[in-house]
Amino acid sequence: MLIVQKYGGTSVGSLERIKEVAKRIKKCKKDGNDIIVVVSAMSGETNKLTKMAYSLSDNLKKREMDLLLSSGERVTSALLAILLTEMGCETIAMSGRQAGIITDNLHTKARIEHIDKQHIEKELKKGSIVVVAGFQGITEIGEVSTLGRGGSDLSAVAIAGALNADLCEIYTDVDGIYTTDPRIEPRAKKLNQISYDEMLELASLGAKVLQTRSVELAKKLNVNLVTRSSFNDNVGTYITREEDIMEKPLVSGIALDKNQARVTLRGVSDKPGIAAEIFRKLAEDGVNVDMIIQNVGLDGTTNLGFTIPENELEITRNAMEEIEASESLEFDKNVVKVSVVGVGMKSHSGVACTAFDTLAEENINIEMISTSEIKVSMVISEKYAELAVRSLHDAYKLDK
Ligand code: ASP
Ligand code: MG
Repeated sequence: MLIVQKYGGTSVGSLERIKEVAKRIKKCKKDGNDIIVVVSAMSGETNKLTKMAYSLSDNLKKREMDLLLSSGERVTSALLAILLTEMGCETIAMSGRQAGIITDNLHTKARIEHIDKQHIEKELKKGSIVVVAGFQGITEIGEVSTLGRGGSDLSAVAIAGALNADLCEIYTDVDGIYTTDPRIEPRAKKLNQISYDEMLELASLGAKVLQTRSVELAKKLNVNLVTRSSFNDNVGTYITREEDIMEKPLVSGIALDKNQARVTLRGVSDKPGIAAEIFRKLAEDGVNVDMIIQNVGLDGTTNLGFTIPENELEITRNAMEEIEASESLEFDKNVVKVSVVGVGMKSHSGVACTAFDTLAEENINIEMISTSEIKVSMVISEKYAELAVRSLHDAYKLDK
């Protein structure tokens, strides 16, 4: 098999840790696999470098920032390759440039355009373990670029896709994806399998585990992903195509998004073009609108509600006052979004009803509802967030 193994910052956070990781890689190689390793910077390194730069200037050139930040991953890749070689494994380390990772020229948040894979392929053919510095590439004109925070996951998935790897393993310090946040519900269970779409909807549960963009890319390129811990030998969570999941659970998990604020516009004139005007303005100002709800109009006016990230409340307030689209404006920061996610919903009814019943039993008022094929999301008051998560987890028997 051709396996891509990506090790995150905590997995390579010290020389001791790098030794542990090297043992794992050596064993996998001995089992007869071809291996490409993608590494992050040692934990805390990227933050440290960023701080150093900002202590010198507020006006940083992104080009230099990329040159600086890309060094963290190069350090780890070289150290790991030195060690593997010492352990008797033929190994070669590569920077993003040497691995042929070509990006666009958006410094600090570049997109991978393609991978010139000959260099990696040649080394694999020779039987070498290839260790690639994650999070970076080069632009068409040979400038160093980085892919945005958490970007090593993206490097790993892109390489796995380009080389048609059998599996892309993302190693981190948690066992995988859980049915909900174990800090809220200690009975949360680790999932063995989940579809790409469920994973994307459960982003808040996966946030610490893997970068959302890398899941989108894995879906697009059909890369089999597994996230697991480099601190033990537990099987992790496989993230695959929905078709490959045999037993489709009705509900896979409960996600909580605390970073939400609700905006209500009352007395919006009920005529064509108003919604377009409001949301165009918000789009121009870069506000990420999530749920949108509009009522059936009455007497020529209607009410419109939507949610946005909490930290975009000020921009939204200014934008709404500027266009004067409504008689009154209301903002509420103390709301959260709770989502029930599962592919089984596509073929079963009653999932939404159970969610509403469950919250009703706890006397929790639902302020907004939105649904997709595989998700029911509800906006509720922040003070009931954890109670809602626990009772929904219970209602769908996710601890069983
Ligand atoms: N070192 C980079 C970061 O901390 C990239 C990564 O670890 O994925 O964001
Ligand atoms: Mg990470």
